[in-house]
Amino acid sequence: MAKKDYYQILGLNRGATEEEVKRAYRLLARKYHPDVNQGDPKAAEERFKEISEAYEVLADPTKRQRYDQMGFAGVESEFGPQGFTWQNFTHVGDLEDLLGQNPFFREWFSGSGGRFAGGGRREVRGPFRGGDIEVAVRIPLQAVVTGASQMIEVPHQRACPACRGTGAKDGTEFEKCPECGGRGQLRRSQNRGYTQLISITECLSCHGTGRRIRVPCPACDATGVQRSTLRVEVTIPPGIEDGTLLRLGLQGEASPGAGPAGDLFVQVQIEPVPGFRREGREVYSEAHVPLITALLGGDLRIRTLLGDALLAVPAGTQPGAQFRLRGEGFPRLRGGDRGDHIVTLRVDLPKALDGHQKGLLKEALGPPGPAGGSPRRSGGIFSRRGG
Ligand SMILES: [Zn+2]
Ligand SMILES: [Zn+2]
Repeated sequence: MAKKDYYQILGLNRGATEEEVKRAYRLLARKYHPDVNQGDPKAAEERFKEISEAYEVLADPTKRQRYDQMGFAGVESEFGPQGFTWQNFTHVGDLEDLLGQNPFFREWFSGSGGRFAGGGRREVRGPFRGGDIEVAVRIPLQAVVTGASQMIEVPHQRACPACRGTGAKDGTEFEKCPECGGRGQLRRSQNRGYTQLISITECLSCHGTGRRIRVPCPACDATGVQRSTLRVEVTIPPGIEDGTLLRLGLQGEASPGAGPAGDLFVQVQIEPVPGFRREGREVYSEAHVPLITALLGGDLRIRTLLGDALLAVPAGTQPGAQFRLRGEGFPRLRGGDRGDHIVTLRVDLPKALDGHQKGLLKEALGPPGPAGGSPRRSGGIFSRRGG
């Protein structure tokens, strides 16, 4: 079976930034981690492995470059003879908060048979961060000029107030973890010939905290968290680009175990307005101008992003002429002057003229027909066919 392109696996285009690669992987990892698909954990694990292989390559600038230049052949030597295995995965640290959110996942990852024995698994200390939340808000194009503020409501988990997120009654009823004797770590020694190998791993039963709940908090069943609805006002600055991610620190999911909360990421999606096209700070539109105004000049009402403006059309304006309405475009994200509104004029020609109007026009502009002799009649669609 042909291998799928790494970018395709993560749903990215080739120009994706490091941050985009990371976010795409995290979103997919959350979707495919092996306990989500209880029905088919094998398939989920395969998929999870596939996205992790893609991430292993695309998250590393050197490997990514080799892959971009030579395809799979450029990165094959990174992995063993059977291809990518979990031993090759060096980015488990990027999943720490996801692992923390989900004890099963965490155990699957770190516990089973030293999956990361050879890898660069980072020592995880103390309680884990809560998960990040990602939501999208849509704003109209006009709001890019003015900025906007939007109230959003997202289901989330918050720290249980009764136990301050610890899961222990009143936040105080703890005892020493019997598994690790309160050290938060487990030591295992093995004899290998003449050398003794001591491996130190984090205690999984207390997540490295060294303590265990003695009396569970009745309000949250010892989980330390409660489902709730997060209401937060998001301020969208003027000049924002479509797809920008706003990060609201510590507004994400509360951490089970009273660690720091995750972050809330708000993606700003800009709804297009028909008839307007944005290019950086400039906005482009078209306007119709009556023939008489194009010929003799006059004021023309132009629809701009924020209401109408009057454009003084000079006499003799040609179809397709462009005019710049200064300061009617978008502001810079960091403040400063607004860009311009560039309007292209379409001249509306009258569809039918009466005899009197035709006479006047001939008198003023001369008779119709080609000037300068009689050229060969074209066979094109504009010639009249005999009838
Ligand atoms: Zn509680
Ligand atoms: Zn322990």
